[in-house]
Amino acid sequence: MPHKLRRRDFLLGSGAALLLPAPALAALGDRRSLSFANLHTGEKLAVTYWANGDYVPGALAQVDTILRDFRTGETHPIAPDLLDLLALLRNRMETGEAFEVISGYRSPATNAKLRGAHEHSGVASHSLHMQGMAIDVRLNSRPLAALRDAALSLRGGGVGYYPSSDFVHVDVGRIRRW
Ligand SMILES: [Zn+2]
Repeated sequence: MPHKLRRRDFLLGSGAALLLPAPALAALGDRRSLSFANLHTGEKLAVTYWANGDYVPGALAQVDTILRDFRTGETHPIAPDLLDLLALLRNRMETGEAFEVISGYRSPATNAKLRGAHEHSGVASHSLHMQGMAIDVRLNSRPLAALRDAALSLRGGGVGYYPSSDFVHVDVGRIRRW
């Protein structure tokens, strides 16, 4: 069960990361789905990533691909907890639309390039993108501030607000905001 090992690796590696509350996840039903539109590559994905009580490995692989580092083409496992956080967020926003993705996984090379370019100034956020534990998104139909507020209310990790760049950063690291 490589996906289970993977999840365990994430939990061990993320230190103080909190588990999302089981009742909230249960409210999502027996299938958890997400949609993504990658703004850099134009790729779209609608996927059921959790079903029959477990994550779906093939679906996770599809997510890893669409959230790859588009600058280098490198993929990295995306934390299943991050997907659960996004599913809860979409549910909270009462929409089934796709998350528009500005940035998912970032390789060390890309991160080094972006550093100092002021593209992304959130403290400690860089390393979480490099671990597949962070994503920068927006919802086309919803105000950015509403997405931020919903993310904060979930208390599932870090939330960064970037109105000038039109995205919200969410991660499954420690709870913090900027
Ligand atoms: Zn970010």
